[in-house]
Amino acid sequence: MPEVRFAEVIVDQNIDRPLDYEVPPHLAALLLVGTRVQVPLRKAIATGTVAKLKHFSSVGDIKPIIAILGAQGNIDPPLWRLAQWMSDYYATPMHRVMRCFVPPHVRSETMLHKQKWVTLAVPLNEATDLCHTLIKKAPMQVGVIHALLQETKGVLLSELNRSAIDALVKKKIVRLVTKGAKGDFCLEESFFPTLPKALHPQQADALSAITASLQTHQHKTHLLYGVTGSGKTEVYIRAIQAAFDLGKSAIVLVPEVSLTSQTIERFRSRLDVPIALLHHKRSKGERNDAWEKLQKGEIRLALGARSAIFCPIQKLGLIIVDEEHDSSYKQSDEMPCYQGRDVAIMRGHLEKATVVLGSATPSLESMTHANQGKYALHRLTSRPSAKLPTIRIVDMKEALAKQGGFSHFSQALIDAIKRRIEQGEQTLLFLNRRGYYRMRCCKACLHIVQCPHCDVAMTYHKSVHVLKCHICNATGPLTHICPACFAHESLEFKGFGTEHVERSLHALFPEIRTLRMDRDTTGRKESHEELFTQFRSHKADVLIGTQMIAKGFHFPAVTLVGVLNPDASLCVPDFRSGEQLFQLLVQVAGRAGRSDLKGEVILQTYMPEHPLIQLAAKQDYDAFYAREMQDRKLFGYPPFARLIKVVFTAEALPDAIEASRLAHETLTQALPSYAMVYPPIACGHTKIKDQYRYQILIKTPKIKGLEDILIGLQIAKVRIDVDPISTYF
Ligand code: ADP
Ligand code: ZN
Repeated sequence: MPEVRFAEVIVDQNIDRPLDYEVPPHLAALLLVGTRVQVPLRKAIATGTVAKLKHFSSVGDIKPIIAILGAQGNIDPPLWRLAQWMSDYYATPMHRVMRCFVPPHVRSETMLHKQKWVTLAVPLNEATDLCHTLIKKAPMQVGVIHALLQETKGVLLSELNRSAIDALVKKKIVRLVTKGAKGDFCLEESFFPTLPKALHPQQADALSAITASLQTHQHKTHLLYGVTGSGKTEVYIRAIQAAFDLGKSAIVLVPEVSLTSQTIERFRSRLDVPIALLHHKRSKGERNDAWEKLQKGEIRLALGARSAIFCPIQKLGLIIVDEEHDSSYKQSDEMPCYQGRDVAIMRGHLEKATVVLGSATPSLESMTHANQGKYALHRLTSRPSAKLPTIRIVDMKEALAKQGGFSHFSQALIDAIKRRIEQGEQTLLFLNRRGYYRMRCCKACLHIVQCPHCDVAMTYHKSVHVLKCHICNATGPLTHICPACFAHESLEFKGFGTEHVERSLHALFPEIRTLRMDRDTTGRKESHEELFTQFRSHKADVLIGTQMIAKGFHFPAVTLVGVLNPDASLCVPDFRSGEQLFQLLVQVAGRAGRSDLKGEVILQTYMPEHPLIQLAAKQDYDAFYAREMQDRKLFGYPPFARLIKVVFTAEALPDAIEASRLAHETLTQALPSYAMVYPPIACGHTKIKDQYRYQILIKTPKIKGLEDILIGLQIAKVRIDVDPISTYF
């Protein structure tokens, strides 16, 4: 065998193919697929990952690799195989898949083996005094000192203003320190260690099956189907402990919105090990530190949202996907459009690890796999320390007729809220629409005021007195002349959001203390957490919110949940809208009565007879599953078929149409006859951020064998979404 002489390198820049480089003799023995390297690129130096080693190259004028970046960031063989699988399955070129495995925090930091930290070089009181003297002259420097007064152990250099630091270093007020990494990645707040609970028999059965498969060192997937509050988390914690006992590590994936300190606390209070928290609220530096410690095997538990599945943890034994049905596991807006849960199962397969999927409302796909025997199914049918809440349907047509006018609240709900206030208990009100009024319409011509950049009605936000687009955040003034027919004073508001509900509640109960949790009130990094802590420490009687409040929270004093008008989502022409509504309703209802106080749910609807509403009220997942599967079978939707959505975007509508027409021709000719290619149609929102969008849907019994044809479609502005969440949006 001749020595390897060339390497294909996927550089971290946006270049759509690997580049050839020469391997200098002194590096030949050290390079592997997945090794991180430094290479010359144009006139600069770039970083990248070795994708292939070879003996020949057809490229002339080839430059040599400069150096190896050090083990940190290297992609281990099983992860490389996972990347290749993703590239195939999600029809995404490797350089785009690499973005998942070499995320931005690793890219920018691989060059630094050691991190630079900033600490105060003067005593605290002196620093405080300096703030007063510097405030006028050098506000940036004061900002830095403030940050250091709060984080006395030091702050990563990359997090602070560089010129202010330089000035302060010169004055010897702060100093730069080089250290490996911060010792502890967890939120540094107090927590109460809790004792393990004696497992009830169903929990014990599930745990022993999971432990048994950990001991076989073979891959197996378990579906833990347990009603809300049935003690799934307890099983997760024991399973993680079992993995540790076998010398293995674990990854826990949770939905984005439940990445709160409450979730983290529950794991931390029982597992006395450092946890690598991987989510966007951690700074780049912190995430990079966590990544490095995982790779060195120093941390054996990683917790994060979907992208945590790519972390370089060593000796992986167990992956837990909590609320596996949650749509935040799917990346839809950018290729690779991967499903984190499915990637978790594939990683488990490649690394011979046990995977546990948990949910109170499993996705139809997972339940079907369990029924077919591909996954082991474990049921937890009751709550250990509380009863499931009762759900009462209130027919709003009837209620409003009786009340003689519009109100957000039926008399039943008003009475129930009042009772909670009197008893010192708490209420959650759920409405899936933020803002004050939902839209502005013209009485004369029925025109709806739309976002100038998107195909969507603008919502009125009273607190800032503007119309706002919920897709691109564009704002517009409140005009009084219809932009379509120019009629004067003909515009009126329609539909309500959380902001309006909050006002109405104050009108009904002047003394009531409320908090609102939606995208408008949780803009800042910490606000989510703050609202949550305030509510838990009973600073409010009622929490009003969008689906943010539906998942994962555990508020012991909440005994009432009011669901306001969930009907709108039933009108979206999408095969999963029924499933998503059912899941959401069961999740929200699950927030009530989680301690010894009995919970009550009031579900206000204009469609009381709708079968989905009925099934959700009974929290009857099995009946829901049976019914929904019939529909899916009838119309040939997953899990009875696979879907691929191909979306074309262009600045002008005719271009989007033309691109989809051409692709449609290619696809109908190239794809095997078992794959059904639907004609191009406009996406549910045809225009988003000034881009027009057309789509083609492919329905097929299997994905395998289609990858090359799909990859062949790779032209600019095409997004291929295999197993899409939605066929509409
Ligand atoms: P899930 O994750 O299924 O929603 P949790 O794990 O949050 O359920 O459990 C709900 C509540 O029941 C928690 O307060 C938890 O401490 C408690 N719990 C769980 N398992 C047991 C048990 N075996 N005995 C007593 N209480 C338990
Ligand atoms: Zn917009």
